[in-house]
Amino acid sequence: MNRPLIVFQSDDWGTQRIPSGIESKIQFDYLNEFLQFDTLEDKDDLDNLKWEVENIATQICKPVNFTLNIVSGNPNFSKIRANDFQKYFVQDLDQSYSYYGFNQAQIKVQWFHISNSASFDLQFHSREHVNSQLWLKALQKRDQMTEAAFDLGFWGLSTNYTRTSHKSFMATWDEKPMETDELNFKEGIKLFKDYFNIKPISFVPNNYIFPIGNIKFVEKNEIKSIQGREYLIQPQKSKFFRFRRKVPRKMGNIEIGSNSLISIVRNVQFEPSKDLFSNKHNESFTPQIDLAMNQINLAIMKGLPAVIDTHRVNYVGGRNEQNRDYGLQQLRKLVEMNRSTLMRLSNPIGLLHWVRILTNLKIKFHNILVRNMRQP
Ligand SMILES: [Zn+2]
Repeated sequence: MNRPLIVFQSDDWGTQRIPSGIESKIQFDYLNEFLQFDTLEDKDDLDNLKWEVENIATQICKPVNFTLNIVSGNPNFSKIRANDFQKYFVQDLDQSYSYYGFNQAQIKVQWFHISNSASFDLQFHSREHVNSQLWLKALQKRDQMTEAAFDLGFWGLSTNYTRTSHKSFMATWDEKPMETDELNFKEGIKLFKDYFNIKPISFVPNNYIFPIGNIKFVEKNEIKSIQGREYLIQPQKSKFFRFRRKVPRKMGNIEIGSNSLISIVRNVQFEPSKDLFSNKHNESFTPQIDLAMNQINLAIMKGLPAVIDTHRVNYVGGRNEQNRDYGLQQLRKLVEMNRSTLMRLSNPIGLLHWVRILTNLKIKFHNILVRNMRQP
């Protein structure tokens, strides 16, 4: 019996983009749903998501696989200021939650429950979500908006600065590779392990940008798979040369530049916050759930797992509670619409031995993965 797989992969947990209550202190453009709704998760957000996902799984009597990809630190604002914006310093998650006024002990307990839940996997996104080189450059030049946000303890604005340089503060790896890259990556993994007491085995680069030359140190850190879209985007070569090389990726293949990393390719986008954003700004839109259903059906028709890209923004209510309620309600609806096709895909560590055998036999791992998925 064919039974396709549906999994959720959600990025950005742990990072602060825009703190709640900031809107009255700084004027910025609400260019998209992230700028409108995204913020660091609080205990209630984690509580609600865990309850909802586990409850859906119980109701449909099928496991739901929700991977939360973690940013394991945030900028240490006081140290960066004390060093006159010359050097980047990180604060870990405990420090971050306290810095933004949350009860870090309660949040840690909630994360512990989530990491022990059969419905969730915690994996690695990055040490920080900010492009520290680009951000520090803007601060050194005393860019007004960037510094105003800094003074309020955040960096997640789409400022004139980033728009004119055609780069985003979000894309950590969108710079020439540096000698410190490997150490920073390793430190990110260490912060993750220290906080969650588990080892990540899967990684998704910020904004899907990651230099191929750095893939080797991802392997060295015992990561087994890379999540992302159909391309791995290479950093911009220079500010005058805006073309970016896109390296194609295919589900289940070995990642280019690596010997063992399995590519997991997201082929569905589900961002219900976009509906609310469009509604708020009187833009016409097709609901995300309809778009996602079309993409899921297409994936299933091709015999591929439906790997759903769904960011943290949809499930946090710190800046707008309606945003979280709507995100969870749409999530429930989407799962219910797919209940007959839902199955669990755990991170493919158990399938890794196949990779070596099949690579030796020169059989594409992809074919086997698809065949495995078709087992009941
Ligand atoms: Zn991200």
